[in-house]
Amino acid sequence: MPHAAPGAFAPESRLDSALATMAVDRPTLVMNPDRVEAQYRALKAGLGFAHIHYAVKANPAAEIVARLVALGSHFDAASRGEIELCLGQGADPARISFGNTIKKTADIAFAHRAGITLFAADAGEELEKIAAHAPGAEVYIRVLVENSEADWPLSRKFGCKPAMVPALFTQAQALGLKPLGLSFHVGSQTRRAEMWAPVLDDVARIWRDLEARGHALTLLNIGGGFPAFYGDPVDTPTTYADRVMALVAERFGAVARVMAEPGRGMVAEAGAIIAEVVLVARKSDDDAHRWVYLDIGRFSGLAETEGEAIRYRIETGRDHDPHGPCILAGPSCDSADVLYEKRPVHLPVTLAAGDRVVIRNAGAYTSSYASVGFNGFPPLDVVVL
Ligand SMILES: *Cc1c(COP(=O)(O)O)cnc(C)c1O
Repeated sequence: MPHAAPGAFAPESRLDSALATMAVDRPTLVMNPDRVEAQYRALKAGLGFAHIHYAVKANPAAEIVARLVALGSHFDAASRGEIELCLGQGADPARISFGNTIKKTADIAFAHRAGITLFAADAGEELEKIAAHAPGAEVYIRVLVENSEADWPLSRKFGCKPAMVPALFTQAQALGLKPLGLSFHVGSQTRRAEMWAPVLDDVARIWRDLEARGHALTLLNIGGGFPAFYGDPVDTPTTYADRVMALVAERFGAVARVMAEPGRGMVAEAGAIIAEVVLVARKSDDDAHRWVYLDIGRFSGLAETEGEAIRYRIETGRDHDPHGPCILAGPSCDSADVLYEKRPVHLPVTLAAGDRVVIRNAGAYTSSYASVGFNGFPPLDVVVL
């Protein structure tokens, strides 16, 4: 690990002993909530006065939400389901933001009735929906930032171009809403804090333009992007978050309210998946690479191997044996269910059907991305220690 978790407990050993001894009959994500707590505290130490709104979609296990409620976290929810999850675990609606820019009117109305007052928008029609179903609500406008260097960039789906922002502020006011400020997402798994600088430059330009037009801005939502360790070195959460906040302060000065929405950085390192080798094969006698098929794949939890973007570390009980390259694939009857082929992974040459493998730092975007049962394979099981 690149960094030790703070605190008196030893989260890794608790997870490791569970991984070594737990009997499972299907791919199983094992989460250590103590490690989530350690990540929360470490991020908080670096983020200072900024509020942490945990991006629930990264791992919606109720026990994790409950732990974060107990720690005083705020939450970023994307749907009625995530709002109900947070409320069910005791979250104060005043601490939940409805951060999806694409919301059903029925869900907006539900959130309003539940006492949620802060909503995201990036389009005029969305502001109209919010004004109609959550009258008087606070809103922030999500802007499209295009120069992200993230390993898992968030594309052009969310946010509006800078030139649209002033008109949306004016429209929000005319609709009786309270436009407080701006949000953006630098891109998930942004490995180095310095990568935030050009994005923050762009957002600061929009911010100053709005102020010059007479808007008093009080909220900057810096989104997620806080990285997890997958093999390439990353800074500790505290160092990284502290550096991001310094970059924010350089550009924005004293902002009344800053929110950050870590998802991956909060939960990825707190979990590991127990899986099994189903088959080791070659396509011909002179095939250069072995094919290793696991009982987990693209459709049962490892969706982020799309484009080979996220490269998980895989441990086996034979890691002391010589290693060789192999193509890693899932079990389903879909040819897209290949995890790593362009850049083969190196696994022990002795690996065989039935071997247990552990996929490290897989606590984010795995359980929530597993299909309900494609090909009859069960969705990823989740055990919270
Ligand atoms: C997914 C998401 C996040 C979390 O992003 P990470 O890169 O996992 O930290 C934060 N904010 C919004 C609006 C999101 O959609």
